[in-house]
Order: sequence, then structure tokens, then C-alpha cells
Amino acid sequence: MCTKCDLHKKRTKAVPGIGNSETKIVLIGEAPGKSEDLKGEPFVGSAGKFLDELLTKTGLKREDVFITNIVKCRPPENRDPLPKEIETCTPYLNRQIGIIQPKFIITLGKHSTSYIFSRTNLQFRSITQTRGKTCEVSLLGMKITVFPTFHPAAALYSAEYKAQLEKDFQQIGTELSKRNLEK
Ligand code: URA
Repeated sequence: MCTKCDLHKKRTKAVPGIGNSETKIVLIGEAPGKSEDLKGEPFVGSAGKFLDELLTKTGLKREDVFITNIVKCRPPENRDPLPKEIETCTPYLNRQIGIIQPKFIITLGKHSTSYIFSRTNLQFRSITQTRGKTCEVSLLGMKITVFPTFHPAAALYSAEYKAQLEKDFQQIGTELSKRNLEK
């Protein structure tokens, strides 16, 4: 088990990711929270329940996609992952992307969007400016469509974010069918 950064000291379980390794669709969140740390699976807490609802809107189920995070162990008190932790952990994400070879990546929130943009020629300004639009990028030597949206946890405290996430996932459904990726 990984001990490359201090997050390993307080984790219960590492949360590498879950889903279908044959999929063309990858979702990337920020870092595990309390429920994820206990179960070893991403997005199983309240934000995860909402993510399942959003996926249903696109006609997808968890089993159809691969879900992971930029950081694989829970930061204490759910604080933001530190730049050093992101730098230490993201080689795992890069390897996952290299193995799965996705055609479509949905970045959930500013941390994952900012990291993915940093590996492309795009400049990340803010999640508000970036969300809701497809970006055709070259990422780790692959041609991939990236679709940034808010983190699903944002919907838990703001009706406005909830509505925007719902709209974004509706659009994701359209973008996936345009590319014949919906199943
Ligand atoms: N938030 C995340 O970003 N990832 C999870 O796995 C759970 C909550």
C-alpha cells in the first residue's frame, strides 16, 4: 500500500477508484471523504448519491463508467488536497487514464479540472468559467473530450449549483450520444 505522502497515516482505506475498465467514460473527483475512506470506494456518501442521480439523467449507471479522484486517500477533516499531495498522487491517475484510454472525461470541481487542464495546453481560470462546455484536448498523448462541471457536493448546499449540475449532466448525455459513447 502506498506511503508516498502523509495522507496514508490517517487513512482507513485507500480509494483507488471503481468501475468498468472497458469504459470510454471516466469521472474524476477531488479526494475521498469519510464514507469513502471507510468503504474504500469513491462517491459513496451524500455527494455520491447525487452523482448517481446525475448519471441516471445521462442514461448511465456506475457500472458503465470509471469513477476516481485526483487524490486517493482522505485529507484530514476533508480539507482541500495540498499541491504536494496532488503532485505525489496523480501519477496513479495518469496510469489509470493510460490503461483505460477514455474518450470522455468528466471533471468534477475545480481541483480535478485544474489538474487535468495543467496536463493540456488549456489554461484553467475558474470552474464557473470553465464548466458546461466540452474541451477537445490532447492528454497524455490521447485525444480526449473533457467536460468540466461543479463538484456534486456543491449541490448539497446550493440550489443554484444543483440546477447547473443537472443541466450539465443533461448536456453530457447529448455530447455522449453525439459521439456514440452513451453505451
Ligand atoms: N468527494 C470527492 O471528490 N470524491 C469522493 O470520492 C467523495 C467525495
